[in-house]
Amino acid sequence: MDSDSISILTSKAPTKREEELPDSTDALLSSSDAPQKSSTKSVLFISLVLSTCVALSAAIAIAFLFFSSSSSSNSESINEVARPLTKLKHPVVLLISSDGFRFGYQFKTYTPNINRLIKNGTEAESGLIPVFPTLTFPNHYSIVTGLYPAYHGIINNYFTDPETNEVFTMASHEPKWWLGEPLWETVVNHGLKASTYFWPGSEVHKGSWNCPKDYCMFYNSSVPFEERVDTVLKYFDLSSSDIPSFMTLYFEDPDHQGHQVGPDDPLITEAVANIDEMIGKLIRGLEERGVFEDVTVIMVGDHGMVGTCDKKLIFLDDLTSWIEIPTEWVQYYTPLLAICPPSGYSPKDVVAKMNEGLKSGKVDNGQYLSVYLKEELPSRLHYAASDRIPPIIGLVQEGYKVEQKRSTRQECGGAHGYDNAFFSMRTIFIAHGPQFARGRKVPSFENVQIYNLVTTILNIQGAANNGTASFPQSILLPSH
Ligand SMILES: [Zn+2]
Repeated sequence: MDSDSISILTSKAPTKREEELPDSTDALLSSSDAPQKSSTKSVLFISLVLSTCVALSAAIAIAFLFFSSSSSSNSESINEVARPLTKLKHPVVLLISSDGFRFGYQFKTYTPNINRLIKNGTEAESGLIPVFPTLTFPNHYSIVTGLYPAYHGIINNYFTDPETNEVFTMASHEPKWWLGEPLWETVVNHGLKASTYFWPGSEVHKGSWNCPKDYCMFYNSSVPFEERVDTVLKYFDLSSSDIPSFMTLYFEDPDHQGHQVGPDDPLITEAVANIDEMIGKLIRGLEERGVFEDVTVIMVGDHGMVGTCDKKLIFLDDLTSWIEIPTEWVQYYTPLLAICPPSGYSPKDVVAKMNEGLKSGKVDNGQYLSVYLKEELPSRLHYAASDRIPPIIGLVQEGYKVEQKRSTRQECGGAHGYDNAFFSMRTIFIAHGPQFARGRKVPSFENVQIYNLVTTILNIQGAANNGTASFPQSILLPSH
């Protein structure tokens, strides 16, 4: 599908051990390759013996240092193999999303339950990388399909189909919008059970997934988080063959608060503590049922959050001297500007005129918006190969917003949707279960890798996707 991305991702995801081994080998080679200069054979011989001794002791010392330092942090993961199930009859993956859980929020307050998963599980050391645009629907659907938005079709939270002029919104459940094969469909295609307690796309009937009653909850934001956790726990009271192999659980927080007050408000701290309590409630429930060590819990977010303020704005009306951009052309303002000019206008000309204005120095904050033809966006964004993506896309600098016209409003809050290279857009990946080493840190990776990870844990064949086939082996414990 997207081979360039695959090779980039492969090189990004070495294991800790792979990273360390070549260094120690280099150290051994360079010390034994030290040049020897001498005028006589005996001196040469003695110096050879001496240098060999020095080299050997250096090698031993280096090897000792290497193994002792790695054993303190990594001894379990080096020797450990996947742990057998003790109570469950089949593997179960519970995928939890805490919306807008920016990487680093776990340090905002005391989070003993999330810490327990981290300490006894595997964590993306610098966070999970979302896909572009770093918005809720595109990212949740990339997590469960392993596809970039251009391929799974949900290219934004809101967009217009250029063929039919129909509008997709977050309430659109018609299968035609939702391409690719989400995990719940893959799982039921294999004769296993799946359950969804909310997830974008989960209500959509696809293949053998028909959103079955009691196993597929229709989205309703007013359901208390406790009730969601209790429902998931009750699945573990079913007879063994009825326990779903794959479950989702979704919380709107802390995204909800992040938009209102930005990432650094005490309201976020409170929301994070509350999510931690929900994780605690879940862990207690699983322990009471004797299945906590058997269940694979994967906790992620969909994107991060950055503070915004109304002094950091770019107004399209300020470009009028170069080109007029009517509101009807604009499908989405910010942080991803998406423009579809009507036929008769050349997108290339529109882009050129907009950029001329933005770079003129005469447009407030113009330097913080760059406009592209979608084909000319950086390829790492994978945001071109779909007719649904409008021809003109603007990338906004972190924390800035695009609006049509000036207003006197002075608000501060938070936003996401920016370039996924910004660390503020990163979220968390924490996995705890029989196939995850305890206390292991892995390098950051993109969320399209999660699909293959889940199918590997469940031991089923997944659909084609943008994830790397070898990724699961780099992060899971070997089975023997
Ligand atoms: Zn979100």
